[in-house]
Amino acid sequence: QAEALMRAEQLAAVGRISAQIVHEVRNPLSSIGLNVELLQDGFETARFATPEDAAEVKDLISAVTQEVDRLADVTEQYLRMARPPRPDLDPRDVTAVLDTVLDFTREELERAGVEVVRDFALDTPHVLADEGQLRQVFLNLLRNSREAMPSGGRLTIVTRPAEDAVEVTVRDTGQGMTEDIRQRLFEPFFTTKEGGTGLGLAVSQQILQVHGGSLSCQSIPGQGTAFVLRLPRA
Ligand code: ADP
Ligand code: MG
Repeated sequence: QAEALMRAEQLAAVGRISAQIVHEVRNPLSSIGLNVELLQDGFETARFATPEDAAEVKDLISAVTQEVDRLADVTEQYLRMARPPRPDLDPRDVTAVLDTVLDFTREELERAGVEVVRDFALDTPHVLADEGQLRQVFLNLLRNSREAMPSGGRLTIVTRPAEDAVEVTVRDTGQGMTEDIRQRLFEPFFTTKEGGTGLGLAVSQQILQVHGGSLSCQSIPGQGTAFVLRLPRA
């Protein structure tokens, strides 16, 4: 129930922000359209034939430039707003973070008939990460895996030390995905689910990039999916 509430709030927030962006982009766009139309008319009817007309042309063009600048400002502002807050980087035990997330998803996984296999390397080095953001990433991946296994299956979580990183693999035996979907899954708002937000993986990838890590995906339709996450060592 708490999950449904959070989801409803997220959706409402996305709707509000989208409406606001549309509103702020529509006005400059229509003004640009209008001015360009005036320019077009002027040239087509040869009204801009004399050198004196140059001033009018200049005014119209500068109106367009001004609106383009405003659009750039607005989009930049929204981008800045949408970026995740700067991570609070500290050395963390990634296996402990995984266990915390597993603890509070255990019940929903069990109910969905998902068996969890924990394959953590004993000597998993600490990573440099923001614990809250890392939890959010794992939660997104676990949830997607559960949703990909509607009639149950196996979820395997592996941690391995790599050269200057730690690699975490989250693998499921779910429906997998076609190449088309695999190519688009990190796009914001891309979803194949009814009522999906399409934000889970976009946000997760962004979080990892800000951490200097990466998130990639391999999948075979009908067999399953693996997400591989790399985080820099502390
Ligand atoms: P959402 O879960 O809201 O759809 P996500 O960004 O979390 O948004 O995922 C985007 C899409 O990627 C999903 O709609 C689904 O098609 C695909 N996907 C993600 N994880 C998996 C997975 N483990 N197995 C199969 N498909 C997946
Ligand atoms: Mg998701």
